[in-house]
Amino acid sequence: MAVTRRRLVVDPIACDGHGICAELLPEVIRRDDWGYPIIDPEPVAFGLEGLAKRAVAACPKLALALRDAPVTHGRGGSSSPRPPARPAARTATAGRAGKARRLS
Ligand code: SF4
Repeated sequence: MAVTRRRLVVDPIACDGHGICAELLPEVIRRDDWGYPIIDPEPVAFGLEGLAKRAVAACPKLALALRDAPVTHGRGGSSSPRPPARPAARTATAGRAGKARRLS
């Protein structure tokens, strides 16, 4: 059975980088060199959900949100699908053939 937990997400366009969220929830949010939040991608720990809601409510730009994050395995591990595989690199043979065509 899938368990739903919540994950913090930030809208990077709306965020002004003043860092109120990081001050309220340093366990989950840290700041980059310019002050913008870097959010732990894991679901918010059960004991921190209240503080996470408080950080969302305090965001002056409405840039921070809690979203459902289904957890299907492990102890709170991510269940997000893997990113799509990158296209296979061209083989050396294909590269040489392409170069040969260009030279002729
Ligand atoms: S409180 Fe909101 S606007 Fe400020 S840094 Fe955090 S997400 Fe961005």
